[in-house]
Amino acid sequence: MPLFAGKLLSRLVCVTVMKAACEVCGSPLRTPPNRVEIDGAVMVVCGNCARLGKQVGPSPSPVTPISPFRARPRARPPPRPAPVPRVDEAEYDVDPDYNLMIKQARERMGLSQEQLGSLLNEKPSVIRMVESKKLKPDMTLTRKLNHELKINLLVSLSELEGGRPTGT
Ligand SMILES: [Zn+2]
Repeated sequence: MPLFAGKLLSRLVCVTVMKAACEVCGSPLRTPPNRVEIDGAVMVVCGNCARLGKQVGPSPSPVTPISPFRARPRARPPPRPAPVPRVDEAEYDVDPDYNLMIKQARERMGLSQEQLGSLLNEKPSVIRMVESKKLKPDMTLTRKLNHELKINLLVSLSELEGGRPTGT
């Protein structure tokens, strides 16, 4: 439709080229521009054309610089990532029951020793030896196990010396 396209184009020209021009008739705006609503569209028009629509505001001044997306009040603060306990490795050691903890956690997750091994980038034999307490995992492996199995194999040395309460 040429009429629609023309109207759209003239509006576009108004906005981009001549900002201070009536969006309806195109005449320069000498008086403070009027903002009127015409057919549901808010336009900046001259005094003559202001009669065509419904007045919405005194001028197209940036009254609301706040983006509508940010204006919405938040009910609660943004979710934080799960707290990662800062572990000073000098004061921590691998839990003496690491073999059981790893085995139980692995079985709880339905993983075979092979699957856990490939998750950790370790050979299944390493997992097997760790679970039979023939191999104590080093800090790197312990961290990977903690991460993959969602457990904590590290225990503070003071806790170890004081004797830790036996769990289930
Ligand atoms: Zn006009």
